[in-house]
Amino acid sequence: MKIPYFRFKPAGNELKYFKEVLESGWLTSSSKAIKLEESFKEKLGVAYALSVNSCTSALHLALEALEVNKDSNILLPTWTFAATAEVVEYLNANPIFCDVDIESCNITPKILQDVLDKGIKIDVLLLVHFGGRSAILHNEQKEGLIDLCIKNNIKIVHDAAHAFPASFKGRMVGSFSDITCFSFYANKTITSGEGGMVVTDDEEFFKRMKLMRLHGIDRDAWDRFTSVSNKNEYDIVDAGFKYNMPDINAAIALAQFEKADELKEKRISIAQRYLSEFRSIESLTMPSCNGDISEHSWHLFNPVLKRNKFISREDILNKLQEKGIGTSLHYKPLHRMTFYREKYNLSKNDFPNSEEIWAGCFSLPIFPDLQEEEQSYIIDAVKEILS
Ligand SMILES: *Cc1c(COP(=O)(O)O)cnc(C)c1O
Repeated sequence: MKIPYFRFKPAGNELKYFKEVLESGWLTSSSKAIKLEESFKEKLGVAYALSVNSCTSALHLALEALEVNKDSNILLPTWTFAATAEVVEYLNANPIFCDVDIESCNITPKILQDVLDKGIKIDVLLLVHFGGRSAILHNEQKEGLIDLCIKNNIKIVHDAAHAFPASFKGRMVGSFSDITCFSFYANKTITSGEGGMVVTDDEEFFKRMKLMRLHGIDRDAWDRFTSVSNKNEYDIVDAGFKYNMPDINAAIALAQFEKADELKEKRISIAQRYLSEFRSIESLTMPSCNGDISEHSWHLFNPVLKRNKFISREDILNKLQEKGIGTSLHYKPLHRMTFYREKYNLSKNDFPNSEEIWAGCFSLPIFPDLQEEEQSYIIDAVKEILS
């Protein structure tokens, strides 16, 4: 058998909507992109949504709207993808890398508090909900991440590239302050090939992001100041970016969005099966959730091999590959990457949990189209390798 790490399959109206766009005579941002934005607003119960060409663009727009500049300190986990950190570089701001919790691979309130206790001023928390499991946003003692950020005047940008649809205590990731960014990259929970969405309840942030999404062109301002609006006139009020989402992509995203909950159910059932089948393997630590398996979007299923003298993570990856099973690694932490390590003088000793996870982690296929026989094949292979 050959099982890829991820396999896309049209879930519903992808081809129909794609054809509609091609036949409409208009390929870039239009009705499909707007419909996708409306759908996100309704689903999350937020005031504003902007479709963009990637989650990286969304993160850049979000930080820019928060007026992040060379004097800003941005706290982010070392345990994340390149995009989370590079947007800080785009704005010449200062990334402050922190370790993550060993169980959730997320930043916890304690980790944030420890940074603040060192006297480091943080302006923005760039919060990754790793694998699709929400970080602890609120708790009974009012010491969740959002509580701490409000208390310390820190803005939050959620990197929710893995976390759609996911929730925290019954409320969807994306409905919390201040700004949330989603990814529709090829192997994310819903996809448009490339694409993303940024959502917020704040009108000022929305206006700024909308302006900068398309070249800094202010059509609205022009319309406001001209009594007889000339449709060909526009003004440029800042040097913006080219971050809009074409309708070609929005068509695919819209069809995926319609099936997002169904696709998630399929991933949950695979996660459930893996969790119960692998429970007996003592050498593995299983991924877990905040108590409720259905709040997790299960973008990733990443067990961690406990350190032992019998088998290494590389051995597992090689053996799975020999059996035709695709795997992935999430992530080689940023403090191990040349650019960040050298520029910021980062040392492995400062990130013990990430080092521990990195030594043993591997990600197994968990895409909605993964057939039951394929799941069984993967389960048998992992059991055989580790028994
Ligand atoms: C995929 C990913 C991104 C970037 O998403 P794109 O849509 O590819 O730009 C950002 N952060 C994390 C954690 C990701 O996994």
